[in-house]
Amino acid sequence: MKNINELDMLMTFSNMINSNSDMFFVVSEIKKYLRTLKELNIFYYDFSSKKLKDVINNFSPIEDMYDETAIGVLYSNFLRLSNCDFIIDNKDYYKLSFNQEKSPKTLLLPLKMVDSIYGMIEFRFDENKIFNYSFINAFNILANQFLLLIQNKLLQEKLQLNYDFYDALKNIAKIIETQYELNYIIPLIGEMIDKFISNHLIYIFIKNDSEYKLFWPNACRDKKVYDLIQQLNKDYLISEDRKIGIFPLVTEKDILGCIVAHSTIEKLTPDDIDYINQLTKQSSVTIERANVYAEVLKHATLDALTGLNNRRQFEVRLKQEYASAKRQKHSLCAMMIDIDFFKSINDTYGHAIGDKVLKSVAKIIKEQLREYDIPSRYGGEEFCILLPQTKIEEANIVAQRLRTAVEKSVVEVSNEKESQNKKINVTISIGLSQLNKTDIADDLYKRADRALYEAKERGRNRVVVYDE
Ligand code: GH3
Ligand code: MG
Ligand code: MG
Repeated sequence: MKNINELDMLMTFSNMINSNSDMFFVVSEIKKYLRTLKELNIFYYDFSSKKLKDVINNFSPIEDMYDETAIGVLYSNFLRLSNCDFIIDNKDYYKLSFNQEKSPKTLLLPLKMVDSIYGMIEFRFDENKIFNYSFINAFNILANQFLLLIQNKLLQEKLQLNYDFYDALKNIAKIIETQYELNYIIPLIGEMIDKFISNHLIYIFIKNDSEYKLFWPNACRDKKVYDLIQQLNKDYLISEDRKIGIFPLVTEKDILGCIVAHSTIEKLTPDDIDYINQLTKQSSVTIERANVYAEVLKHATLDALTGLNNRRQFEVRLKQEYASAKRQKHSLCAMMIDIDFFKSINDTYGHAIGDKVLKSVAKIIKEQLREYDIPSRYGGEEFCILLPQTKIEEANIVAQRLRTAVEKSVVEVSNEKESQNKKINVTISIGLSQLNKTDIADDLYKRADRALYEAKERGRNRVVVYDE
């Protein structure tokens, strides 16, 4: 370090800080450059949680990183630095009064802008090095640059957070375009909020009569949550320790349920509360619309997403075809289809794209079938097809053709975040069965379902004919 003058050092470090947003990298470069520097720590004071955060360790609160004594020292140093210019080896100094040369082991500088203090930098040296005032001044300028870098980074993160927030809002609004089953919608909403609010556990309760029942996820063990819910009205509630927030899902007339954010460590910040509140409002709208749709669709026969028969209509058609096969002594086959690894498509590309894949598979089914075959959407990503006047061998041919057609198809999806279009390949597994003389109607598709299970077991993307 002998030959390094402060201007040289300053230039080198400034350039490094300006061209790198990776704080960890910058710090390790500085350590390489100043070989007597053993440690360099940067602490940033977060005004909303009133905690010092360790910048280099991903802004973790120091409470998570240090032991109690060290935490106490750090906070008291931070307080001292708001009243002096720097601390050398545990002694406070003022710039004006500093004229001697020092050989410090530790140097603490505030991260200051105008008159406010935002944090501090701690330098620890392992070998005595004579410091004069201009050296310390150079470090001070570096500290300013670090502060700017930190503030930029935080601002950027906030913008990203905002972006993610609008994304989550949009996704919750979008679910409803095709789905109206609460069993399906609520877990999705839960997952979306959970992904966005990562510091807190999210629970969704739905009101049944006058009781709130946990709907998602499977368990909530904290009694305090249940106690607080009892006091819920049309406004959100925050527990006294600010670790639990209860946000009502409300419509104009009713409380539908509530979304709960709960943490055992971090308090809910005002930002968290704003975000969750907004997301809950969007969720209320989505759930209310779902309920309205469900009511309307009670009387529908077609599935809204795929245009195939819905489950109810499937039951009706099954009874008809069963009766007719019996009466006219025709054969009748059923084909159960399930998309392979569909969950991973949803997980990778999102549910909107999952829906698109579902639609595309439904379209292929329609194209491949004969006019008198009866395709239905049996559930989520499962289809059941009734094949009247068809023998099992013929059904097998149809099934193989269908399976190949899906395998060969590609679903092109455009990704909002990336300009490039993605091509998704899917496969299906099929179980087949034929109506026996002694069967009741349900036996037909239940056996097809067992064959489907077998097709999955044997590795998917295949057709299995039910065999006793
Ligand atoms: P396997 O090959 O064993 O069938 O794997 P899988 O991932 O397809 O199986 P699983 O039954 O576990 O997953 C089905 C997934 O389909 C779970 C559910 O989130 C999703 N799903 C159900 N209905 C819909 C829907 O209408 N739209 C979308 N996008 N996803 C749906
Ligand atoms: Mg399935
Ligand atoms: Mg599946």
